[in-house]
Amino acid sequence: TLTRPLTSLPPADLETFLETQRMAYEDLKARGLKLDLTRGKPSVEQLDLSNELLSLPRGHKDGSGTDVRNYGGLEGLPELRAIFADLLWVEPAQVVAGGNASLTMMHDCLVQLLLHGGPDSPRPWSQEESVKFVCPVPGYDRHFTMLASYGIEMLTVPMHDDGPDVAAVRELVRDPAVKGMWIVPTYANPSGSVVTQEIASALASMDTAAPDFRIFWDNAYAFHHLTEDEAKSADIITLASAAGHPNRPLMFASTSKITFAGAGVAFLAASEANVKWYLSHQKFASIGPDKVNQLRHVQFFGSAAGVREHMARHREILAPKFAAVDAALSSALDGREVATWSKPSGGYFVNLDVLDGTATRVVELAREAGIVLTPAGASFPHGVDPRDRNIRLAPSFPTLDEVETAMAGVATCVLLAAAEKLAAGSGAGS
Ligand code: PMP
Repeated sequence: TLTRPLTSLPPADLETFLETQRMAYEDLKARGLKLDLTRGKPSVEQLDLSNELLSLPRGHKDGSGTDVRNYGGLEGLPELRAIFADLLWVEPAQVVAGGNASLTMMHDCLVQLLLHGGPDSPRPWSQEESVKFVCPVPGYDRHFTMLASYGIEMLTVPMHDDGPDVAAVRELVRDPAVKGMWIVPTYANPSGSVVTQEIASALASMDTAAPDFRIFWDNAYAFHHLTEDEAKSADIITLASAAGHPNRPLMFASTSKITFAGAGVAFLAASEANVKWYLSHQKFASIGPDKVNQLRHVQFFGSAAGVREHMARHREILAPKFAAVDAALSSALDGREVATWSKPSGGYFVNLDVLDGTATRVVELAREAGIVLTPAGASFPHGVDPRDRNIRLAPSFPTLDEVETAMAGVATCVLLAAAEKLAAGSGAGS
């Protein structure tokens, strides 16, 4: 009965509530916390799941007798390509196994498109008058900073529970300057949404004014389920090929959050024409990837099923932390109507939307209380959230105890910021 929407409190009650929150916040500050929920890093316990890698590989030859210690094999070890082809539903010939970072592969693709164009480009993208990208928001900050670093204009569309707003995307791609879009299809960063088969199909088949339109399909969390109900990632490559746009999708994945974030293996999956195109430029940059690391991943996983089983162990560590985020937010905020948050069934993040105009304040209050959050607005191009309400929570790295403490603290900051804002609004006339 005490839990009423903050907006419905009469001014006197709101003042009392504000005072209570100020006291709760002072108590929080007095605890001298030092907690960091900024980036989606695997915890030490998760990294330990892959420690066997540190004593692999056994031997130094792959299945076909290639000495992995030497140069060569730009497209990656066949056995590892086969495992991830199976997981990503493509043919091994459509997969490149590269270095440790899929972000580098995305960047390489973008730069090659700018400098040379793709197999179906009339000219290099850099020779167009302008280049624009469709960016579903909230989205992954590094996607946006990458585009910003090349002066690519970002056009935002809302990211819904079932994927990007397709009607808005269709409208934007009528402009020939719009050359591509980002999508984190399965367990989006940060919302956790999963692009449905229908929306994937619409994106794969829509008319685009640019003949060389590219969907950067960043499947970073395709296998990162938090429940036993494992979402299937839409098969964008087959859908696009069936729709007559085989070169439209460039799919990326990596083992960064499967084995070691700093020493995993990254993958590009695409049409054979795109793979050929990618390698035709990459051959000037590398004589071959780290095949020793690739071989130890082959031996560690054994098969696609081995990857899935390994992910179940990650889930056992991660799921309780996500449950703790939800529990802490629910217990403090339910009924107050000043925040909504995602309840992801996979991935690494929880998307918290607070009262409009208070996200920056919440992050600032949290920082002063020793809880470091991702800067407000980070999930938007140029770091600007037009409603200043979005906060990305990354609960993977801290311990379960720390997540509980941090989230209770964040909830206090959310309530204090909301009460301050509402009191300032209602006090204006008094
Ligand atoms: N894509 C998304 C959506 C991510 O969240 C991350 C990591 N935070 C990456 C890519 C980075 O992947 P990698 O380590 O393979 O470069």
